[in-house]
Order: sequence, then C-alpha cells, then structure tokens
Amino acid sequence: MSLRTRRRLTPRHTLQRLRHTSRLYALLSHVGEAVFRATGPEQLFETVCRIAVEQGAFPLVWVGMADPVTGEVRPVAAAGPAVAYLGEVRITARPEPEGQGPTGTAIREARPVINNDFFAAPYTRPWHGAARRFDLRASAAFPLVVHGQALGALNLYASRPGFFDVHEVALLERVAGAVAFALEKLADEEQRWLAEQALRESEARYRRLTEHATDLIYRIRLQPSSAFEYVNPAATTLTGYTPEDHYADSDLGLKLVHPDDLPLLLRLTHDRALLAEPIELRWIRRDGSLLWVEQRNVPIVDAAGNLVAIEGIARDITDRKLAEQALRQERALLEARVAERTRELQLERDRTRAILESLGEAVMVFDTDGRLTYVNPAAARLTGANPEAPGYWWDYQPGEGELLLAELRAAARNRRIWEGELPFRRADGAVYDAAVTVTPLFAPDDPEQVIGFVSVHRDITALKNAERMKDQFVSNVSHELRSPTSLITLLAGNLEMLYHRLDDARRLEVIGEIRKHARHLSDLIGGVLEISRIDSGRIATDRQSLNMADLVLQELTHLEPVARRKALHLSADVPESLPVVGHAGQIQQVLRNLLTNAIKYTPDGGRITVTGRALMAPAPADEPRWPGAAGLPEGLWAAVAVADTGIGIGAEDLPHIFERFYRVRSQSEIPGTGLGLPIAAELVRRNGGILDVSSTPGQGSTFAVYLPMTEVAS
Ligand code: ADP
Repeated sequence: MSLRTRRRLTPRHTLQRLRHTSRLYALLSHVGEAVFRATGPEQLFETVCRIAVEQGAFPLVWVGMADPVTGEVRPVAAAGPAVAYLGEVRITARPEPEGQGPTGTAIREARPVINNDFFAAPYTRPWHGAARRFDLRASAAFPLVVHGQALGALNLYASRPGFFDVHEVALLERVAGAVAFALEKLADEEQRWLAEQALRESEARYRRLTEHATDLIYRIRLQPSSAFEYVNPAATTLTGYTPEDHYADSDLGLKLVHPDDLPLLLRLTHDRALLAEPIELRWIRRDGSLLWVEQRNVPIVDAAGNLVAIEGIARDITDRKLAEQALRQERALLEARVAERTRELQLERDRTRAILESLGEAVMVFDTDGRLTYVNPAAARLTGANPEAPGYWWDYQPGEGELLLAELRAAARNRRIWEGELPFRRADGAVYDAAVTVTPLFAPDDPEQVIGFVSVHRDITALKNAERMKDQFVSNVSHELRSPTSLITLLAGNLEMLYHRLDDARRLEVIGEIRKHARHLSDLIGGVLEISRIDSGRIATDRQSLNMADLVLQELTHLEPVARRKALHLSADVPESLPVVGHAGQIQQVLRNLLTNAIKYTPDGGRITVTGRALMAPAPADEPRWPGAAGLPEGLWAAVAVADTGIGIGAEDLPHIFERFYRVRSQSEIPGTGLGLPIAAELVRRNGGILDVSSTPGQGSTFAVYLPMTEVAS
C-alpha cells in the first residue's frame, strides 16, 4: 500500500475525517450483516456495492470477477452515479496494458492496490479518458481471496485525489475480507449442497437399480433382533413372497430354503469366513416349485467388529443348474456307454484271442512292411516263430518277397483276399507246403488305407503227399489192371482167330488161361475196392467184445481143406480166451490174409503153426516167434503169430511188403495182387493194433498181430 500524499490535518479536516470514518465503520457493520444474511454471491455483491455507495458516498463501487480462462474482468455488481463508467472500459487480470490497473493488479497479485491520484499514474492511462468524464480521481482495488485464490476484486472510486488513507484502506480491506469470507462460506455451502445432492442422486440411482434388479437384494439386521431391513421387489417374482412378507416374518429367509440345504445355510451363520463365499442353495417358492439360487452375502460389522447385519444378493441359477444336471446325466450316460462298449470290445478281443489261440491253423498278422505283430500258437508251432519277437513274415515265406508284397497290395486295393499255395520255411530251415489266405487290414478311420495283413496258412505237406500217393496208386492200379486185361484180350482173340485150328484140349487150355487172368483181375479189383474203401473211411467202425482165439480157430477150420491139398501140416496153439474189442469181420480178414499167404508161400509138405498168447509189454526182447513185441507200448496184448516154413522174404524186400502192389519179384509165379498185406496192416491199425513180421529166406516167415487185450485171460 502506498499513500502518495500525507497532508497536515486541519480541524475541518479532522471533523470531516471523523464523519467519514464513522460512515466507513457503519459500512463495515452493514456489510457484516449482509454477509450474515447472504443467500448468494450476486445478491451479496449487489448489497455490498449499494451499502458502500450509500454509506461511503463513493461515486462508483463495483465487484469484478476474473474469467478463469480469458482473464477478462467482468463486473458482476455495481452501484453509484458513475456506474456507466464500467460500460466504457475494458479491464483484465492479464499482464497487458488493460491488466496493469489497480483491479487487474489486485487480482493477479492478490493484494490491495490503492491509486490516490488516478491521472498521475502512467499505468492507469487506458482509462484516463473515461475517468475524466466521470470525474473519478482516486481508486482502490481489494482482491477477493477465496480459499487462497484471488477470484475477483472489490473496487471503490473517489472524486477526490488522496481520498484513500491508511484508515480507510484498513477498513475497506476488512470489508473486502468480509465479502471474501462470505464468498468462501457460500462456496462451501454450495459444495455441501452439491455433495448432498450427489448423495441423494446416487441413493436414488441405487434404489432405482435395486428396485428394477432381477436378482433378489436384501439386508438382514441381526442386532438387537433379526429382521429384514430391505428386500427388493424381485423377491416377489423370484419366490412369490413380497418384500412385505419378508418384513413381516424375520424367519422367512430360513423357511424359504429347501430342508436338505438348511444345514449348509446354518453353517454360514456360525462361520463368518464362509459367509463371504458364494453358496448355491435350493429354495421353495410360495407355489411349492423349486428354485436354485446363488447367494452372495456381505457381512456388515460395527466399529467393535460385531456382525450386525448381512447384505446380499440371491440370483436365480435354476436354468444353469438344470443344464448342469442334464450335462451330468448325459456324461454319466456317456461314461456308462463307453464302459459298456469297452467291455464289449474287451469281450470281443478276448473271444477273438481265444479263437486265434485255439485255432489249428497258423495265423500271422503283419504290417505293410511285413513286420509280424502277432503269431498265434499254431503259427508258432508250425513255423517255430517266437511269439515275443516274431520278426518278419518274409523270414518264414522264402518266396520272392517284393513281388508277393506287390501282389498282396494290389489285391488289397481291390479289396480282395489273396489265396494260394506257398512254400514256407520253419525256423529250423525245413520247408513245407502251405495253403495260404492273406486278408488285408484297413485303417478304422480310413477304409482306403491298408495297414497290414492277416495271413492264415495250413501245412498241406501231408495232403500233398497223399495226393502224390493217390496219383501213384492210380497209376499202379491202372498198370496192374492192364496186364491181365490185355492177356485176356489177347487169349480171347487167339481163341477166336484160331478156334478151328485148335483141338478141344488146346481150346480148354486157352479158356483156362483166360479164366486164371480173369480171376486175377477180379482179385485185383476186389483188393483195390477194399483199399479204397479203407482209404475213404467207408469201412465199418463199430466194435464189439470178441474172443480172438475163436476167430483164429474159425479161420483155421475154413482154410484147412486148402492146406490139405498142398499137404501142409497145420497146427494151432491158442489159449481158450483172447478177449479183445474190435470188428470181427475185419480181424477175421487179417487172419485169413496171413494164413492164405502162409499156405501160398510154403511149398507142399511144409508146416504152418498158429500161436496165440497174452503178452505183457514191454517184452524183454524180440524173439523170432514174436516179431516187434519189444516195441509194443506198455500193457497187455492179445498176440497171434502165423509161422510157416516157407520160402521166406529177403531183407531187401522185407521193408516193402506192406506197400501197396508190392510183390517179391522172385515169387511172380505165385498168383497175387500185392494188396493182401497192406489191407491187413491197415485193418489191424484201425482196430488199435500192430502187425509185424520176421522172415528168413529159405526157412520161413512169422507174421504177428497184436491187439490190446481187454481182460486178463483166465
Ligand atoms: P500177394 O497177393 O502177392 O500175396 P501180399 O500183400 O499178401 O500180396 O504179399 C506181398 C508179398 O509179400 C508177396 O508177394 C510175397 O512176396 C510176400 N509174402 C507175403 N507173405 C509171405 C509169406 N508167408 N512167405 C513168404 N513171402 C510172403
């Protein structure tokens, strides 16, 4: 503050000053009152300006507020005869010529600026013209500082230079302070009012939200007694119970809960930690229907930490629960189905495995490279493959692997099963013939993709041998039949052609020859038929208890006349009983064949002995009477030996005499077919027995039949 003049005071001046000062005090007290009554800033400013003019006789008093953005100072209230001055001037609070005046400086620097000689100051130049017109010669500007910030200024003008002295300035500063204080108070009030307004607004907003929420929102008071303090209208839609129902019944919250879920809820009341967790409960609506809710509770505690209320939200999750339930059921169903399917597959796998394991045929599974992934026991037996490390299919199939694989692939592409006969090699190197089928395996998810093969093969070596034997047999039969047939044809032709040239005796001789060959032919045909009947299994298989001794005696009786014609001595040493089980006709035929041969191959006057015995095997050693007895399996045997003193059989022929059509060459004079012994041997075998022979050329032969004995001979 700077006072430009300090004059000596005369008594008039003193009086004037006293009057003036008392007016200013009055002004201050009026302003204090106005401040007290103020309802708003504008009204306060108007009042202050008016009172200042009335009490202080100022030509102009105004309040200007600085625009916070532009810095332009706008009059908001003014009074005094020079009010029009304001219409002519521009004042700012910015650092520019129009901002350097008392008002601008007071606001910018937040300090009172007193200018006691308006026209002497250079910085008031922008307003000199207007001030002169309104006769304004001194001015004072006081900042209105609200919360530490100068928002505007209270401006007073005097028509006399040097008007504002120390007292006045101090008093007017207090006036400005009072106005600023009022402004501050008003601003605080407004602030409070705004805060209250915002609070009311937010409360209304929240209420609107809760009133319109679809979730049930509630507050339960617990102290001093429990009761619903608030329940939103959603309660009615969710449960059928209105908020009023809740207010009327403090236990409704518990009554709503499904009895089974009540323990869960009660646990919450005992454990506050659980209270904060969301829980899922079943409620029963007023109409009795079920409702799933997710309840989220917030414990409300007082300053002492006591639980005084619970606020919460309950949301209808019935749809979700039902969906979950349906999903669970679906999953359980699916699991059951998968388990069932797995069981079926396991069963199927076990069954397949059992079939494969028990199958007589060799089964090998291999991938497209020929690597074996499975061999069944039959295959392991047949090929010698190790089921744990079976190796490659090609190891056992020594053909041209690559070529065969190409063939298999081609067949697979056409979805064909490959069939054929292939040589196979055992692990020990032996080769055998096999009938093979190779079936392609396709990927389960891609029926076009071949992932391997299943090869089933059967050892057909025996079959092949049988085939070869059959071929041999047929060729032998044809050969054997051809010679008597051609002889008969030749002889009959001679007889016809030379009939008239031959005498009766010669004719009879030729006819006799023809009959002999016809008989041979008939014997051959009979024998062949017999063999083929045996081979094809068309002979009787029924067996009965027999006494072999009886059969021996019957056959001896039957052939006795034939032996007598050759003057052969026929004797028998047979126990009374040699019980066996077998086919009587077949055993008789065996005995007949052996006896017939003995008669045939023993020169006239020789001896034929038939011996019967019960033999206990193993016998200590072979003796000439019982050839092959030492090799008999353990047990009791009914043995019958037919021994002759005939021509015998050489060692080189002996191994072959049981072969079909085999005849000892040197004996070709004696009629025969070479089928008698093979038939006998086969019939013995079919009756569970063994036929054996020992022979010494020139001395005789012994043929022995052994059949299992059924009971100890008495
Ligand atoms: P065959 O009809 O020729 O007798 P077999 O099959 O009965 O045919 O006999 C085969 C061969 O065995 C005979 O050809 C014969 O050489 C010889 N053989 C069979 N039995 C005797 C025997 N008791 N003594 C000498 N050789 C025999």
